[in-house]
Amino acid sequence: MKPLIDFDECLRDSPKFREQLETEEASIESLEQKLDKVLKSCSVMIETGKTYMSHRSTFTNALWDLTGSFSEDATVQAALNRMIHALQEMTKFHSILLDQASRTVLKNLTAFIKVDIKGVKESKHHFDKISNDLDLALNRNSQVSRHKPSDVEEVVNLLLATRSCFRHTALDHVQKITMLQARKRHEILATFLSYLQACCTYHHQGADLSEDLEPFLKSTADEVATMRNDTKILDKEMENRHTIVNSKDTVLPSCKSVPTEGDSKDGLLSTPCLKNLPRMQGYLFKRTSNAFKTWNRRWFYLYDNRLVYRKRTGELNVTVMEEDLRLCTVKPVLDGERRFCFEVLSPSKSHMLQADSEDMLSAWVSALQNGIRSAIQQGQSRDTSDSQLVLVPDTHAMKKIRIWEQLLSIPGNNYCCDCGSPNPRWASINLGITLCIECSGIHRSLGVHVSKVRSLTLDDWEPDIIKVMAELGNKVVNLIYEANTEGTTVTRATPDCETSVREAWIRAKYVKLEFVKNIVNTIMTDSIQESPLRNGRRWSVRRARRRVRTAPAVPETIKDEKSDVNSNSSASESSTSEAVEADGVLLVGGELAPRRALRLVCLLLRYRADQSITDGAGRTPLDIAVAHANADIVTLLRLTKLNEEMRESEMSSNDDTYNEVFRDYTQLAHSHPERLVRARHNNNEGEQTSE
Ligand code: ZN
Repeated sequence: MKPLIDFDECLRDSPKFREQLETEEASIESLEQKLDKVLKSCSVMIETGKTYMSHRSTFTNALWDLTGSFSEDATVQAALNRMIHALQEMTKFHSILLDQASRTVLKNLTAFIKVDIKGVKESKHHFDKISNDLDLALNRNSQVSRHKPSDVEEVVNLLLATRSCFRHTALDHVQKITMLQARKRHEILATFLSYLQACCTYHHQGADLSEDLEPFLKSTADEVATMRNDTKILDKEMENRHTIVNSKDTVLPSCKSVPTEGDSKDGLLSTPCLKNLPRMQGYLFKRTSNAFKTWNRRWFYLYDNRLVYRKRTGELNVTVMEEDLRLCTVKPVLDGERRFCFEVLSPSKSHMLQADSEDMLSAWVSALQNGIRSAIQQGQSRDTSDSQLVLVPDTHAMKKIRIWEQLLSIPGNNYCCDCGSPNPRWASINLGITLCIECSGIHRSLGVHVSKVRSLTLDDWEPDIIKVMAELGNKVVNLIYEANTEGTTVTRATPDCETSVREAWIRAKYVKLEFVKNIVNTIMTDSIQESPLRNGRRWSVRRARRRVRTAPAVPETIKDEKSDVNSNSSASESSTSEAVEADGVLLVGGELAPRRALRLVCLLLRYRADQSITDGAGRTPLDIAVAHANADIVTLLRLTKLNEEMRESEMSSNDDTYNEVFRDYTQLAHSHPERLVRARHNNNEGEQTSE
């Protein structure tokens, strides 16, 4: 390209040169101002962009938070996550673009101003100075006198030197201006080319991202349409919502076999079933046990073989109403003031509960009966482990107190069975009675084959012993052992009587059996000459591994066995390692209703009671049961005998079958005794044992 300023004009310092110079300098001045403006606006743009980016990231963080509301909804959460990810990608691209603007526009233009334009300004400064010097030199040269030759020479030399310097400086200045004007073209273009390329990259990245997102956006749009449609359908379904208010099905407790939280849609629309309700739950009114007898509405359900309830709102705590369903019975209360009531009874407590309707009442009663039966079924394995201890959050001591309270609430148990002293603290576990400390001392002296004494407050109680205690109690036992006290010469024991009187009474009562009516004669058959009890042979129940016992239990054996077992097991309170002595149980069992007798026989056989022992007339329990026409007990005894014989002959393969049959009987005996009683009268009713 051609120089902007003609060198000849420059060397002559002509007006044209000066004119050209001024034009160029003004142009550079203007360029600088314009570039300043570009720089400032670019800076503002970048700063504003950064602020925008920061708001954008706040926005995406808020979106991340929002996904938390869909933690249970994988579809929505996944779509939101993908969208947020895309937004973050876009933010990243935008940040890169801003960075590029800074690197190109700001950096390059600043350098151009600082180096090129500043260089021209410096050279102009030099040029102006030397131009001034030249003017001074020309003036002096013009003013020098021709009469002073030495002055003339000096002025001429200065002028020559200054002019030479001026010319070099002017040429340099022209070069600077020319170069700047040449460079500004490509420097500025290159700068904005880079920036535009960055912009294009940004948009390309965006386009690529959009292309990648395309299928996702489409499928999401489809999902949104489906969801909208579902909502519409749901809305339509719920239009009928008010009609279900009048349908009684909705007030029935829910009875899903596997309850799930947040499944309200299902629970609202499906019809609850009434059969097989292992996990029934719903509201019941519960009467408080305090003096006010107020009624509170609570949400009840069966959990872990316990009957528990909680409030509708406010607290998460679940209260255990009954912690072992195996000890409970349930019955409708028909004679109360309120309707639809039923009672849950355990050995120590009674709870009055009220359902909302007749249907709910029967649903609850059958659900509880099923619950009790399945608790008994599960209890078999639970007794031998410590799971109960782990699951019940109470302390050991609390549990003991509760058992003590339960046992004292059994009819007659709050007074000593023998002397009537209040608040007994001891029990005879084979007789199923409670005793004061004085009487318990005498019972101990009789030997464990007659009475096995335990502390209500200090000792541990296995569930099966509690069951025996719950079946008996002082009132029932005294009906037997004190059935015939009229006309006796033995002085009745009282709370404050002499020890000798107490001992004589207790020995007469339990050892000599003086006050017992001839029970077996009256209950079992009429052909017994002598009470089977009089020859001192009774049923003895033990947890022993031996299957057949020919001799009744003696104290030494029990002691040995007890210590032997205790040393082998962890001997916790819920284990049944200790022998259950139940001499008196069978005796009293005969007096009880058939279903209770059967229950006790189950219990006795479970602990491998020796059924080969005979009474005075040489009759085995099986003989007596046959004579008494109790088909269920006969079946059980025969099955047990058969099983033992097969095991004796090493044919143990039938064990499982036997255990199954036995378990069924045990469960029925506990939960549906009426079925067994009925079955005895009507063998043709097929489906009685199934639901
Ligand atoms: Zn007493």
